[in-house]
Amino acid sequence: MTIGRKEAGYRPLNDRIYDYGEVEQTLDDKDRIEQASRCMDCGIPFCHWGCPVGSKIPEWQDLVYKGNWKAAYEVLHSTNSFPEFTGRVCPAPCEKSCTLAIHDEAVTIRENEASTVEHAFNLGFVQPHIPEVRTGKKVAVVGSGPAGLSAADILNQAGHEVTVFEKNSAVGGLLRFGIPDFKLSKTVIDRRLDIFVEEGIIFKTNVTVGTDLTQDELLAQFDAVILANGAEQPRDLPVEGRDLDGVHFALEFLGQSNKRIAGVVIPEEESIHAKDKKVLVIGGGDTGSDCVGTSIRQKATSVTQIEILPKPSETRASNNPWPYWPNTLRTSSSHKEGCERRWSLSTKRFIGENGRIKQVELVTVEWDKDAAGRWIMTEKPGSSEILDVDLVLLSMGFTQPVHNGLLDSLGIEYDGRGNVKVNAKKQTSNEKIFACGDVEAGASLVVRAIEAGKIAAANVDEFLCPE
Ligand SMILES: Cc1cc2nc3c(=O)[nH]c(=O)nc-3n(C[C@H](O)[C@H](O)[C@H](O)COP(=O)(O)OP(=O)(O)OC[C@H]3O[C@@H](n4cnc5c(N)ncnc54)[C@H](O)[C@@H]3O)c2cc1C
Ligand code: SF4
Repeated sequence: MTIGRKEAGYRPLNDRIYDYGEVEQTLDDKDRIEQASRCMDCGIPFCHWGCPVGSKIPEWQDLVYKGNWKAAYEVLHSTNSFPEFTGRVCPAPCEKSCTLAIHDEAVTIRENEASTVEHAFNLGFVQPHIPEVRTGKKVAVVGSGPAGLSAADILNQAGHEVTVFEKNSAVGGLLRFGIPDFKLSKTVIDRRLDIFVEEGIIFKTNVTVGTDLTQDELLAQFDAVILANGAEQPRDLPVEGRDLDGVHFALEFLGQSNKRIAGVVIPEEESIHAKDKKVLVIGGGDTGSDCVGTSIRQKATSVTQIEILPKPSETRASNNPWPYWPNTLRTSSSHKEGCERRWSLSTKRFIGENGRIKQVELVTVEWDKDAAGRWIMTEKPGSSEILDVDLVLLSMGFTQPVHNGLLDSLGIEYDGRGNVKVNAKKQTSNEKIFACGDVEAGASLVVRAIEAGKIAAANVDEFLCPE
């Protein structure tokens, strides 16, 4: 009742935009413990309901308050293999449903989570736990993002021999080659992977399953398979001029940036870089925001982010009450670094010169509901405008997993949205093949991928060793 919410905040703007170090700061222990003390230990903890991994939030807030970092970490880790990832990049639906948020500001649950896990690593509480008994069963995990890693951890701890296949040169999925270093340092991934290797998980990088290892070899060599290969098909914008040089998918740009920071040399002819360019980011979501922060660090001359939907309101609408996720305006650290944000704009065409992007034609759109209550978009007459641009980054989400290749060759069923169809056990139409994360749910969040990996792992364990 006497302590207000205190966030650690970001590094000063004129410091952070010159490097790719994490932007978020930390509180000292006294402040952190005080922040944990704000938890009211509600009879019905809605934060626990709001958290996709079902984190026992009031329990570890109390342990943090008492300064028992070891026990706090153990409770936190009991429902989430990677609190160090979610503590950094989770949008924290728990905080949106915190009871305090009804009349005051929520507990800083996400920051408390990051702080707890960092204390646990610093104090030596996170040690390899090598399974004492091995079952002799072999599991293949295809894809090393949070879903695959979460499943691999649990199945390895259950005693199965787990091999994680990754087509990229390094493990981590979008944690590694999507989310920028300024949100999640890659040393944080490597620290956990070192433990996994000691615990016995086998990682095979630069292996595209379906090509380097055929589907027949996969099914013959392993007792069960978990598909955790993400939703990699980006939503395109098939308007005039789409094929001009300088129009790219966001992930091509972001992936290259993360690789450069890791020391990989990108060949000149393939390089997508924002230096001295007027950048237009199409798509107002989080990936777009990551393109903004990356463009600013690459020293773009200007960055504009546009969105086809109207500007969200700053406060909850009456039909969007607590404890649900608020559909309100979100402003990231990157947005504060110097970008123009605009809404209700549709892209009509890309205009080029000698095969390179020069300008974009935009038109303002209006949104109204039809008689059936569906949203209808119309172009505002006479609102067309031309914007000078040198680099366009398409950041409009992902439609589905890539079917061509592994998934089609396995002959498993898809759902109506083109994702891999699974039942409640995350089992596909082939009983030996399970799927988890974006590949079966569509593009989502790290925390949801971790939870999906947990469910798949529990059911693969049951499939391999029925009681
Ligand atoms: C730019 C960006 C920023 C994001 N930021 C956030 C954020 O801040 N917070 C948040 O919660 N979520 C964020 N997300 C979403 C989040 O990253 C994803 O929802 C999550 O990573 C999905 O996990 P996954 O394990 O299902 O798939 P992925 O992370 O996509 O991993 C799939 C892996 O499978 C590999 N693979 C694919 N096919 C094969 C094959 N045939 N053989 C071998 N390997 C294969 C891929 O190379 C990849 O490494 C972001 C997404 C993007 C694109
Ligand atoms: S994983 Fe996300 S939703 Fe769950 S407690 Fe952590 S920040 Fe909150």
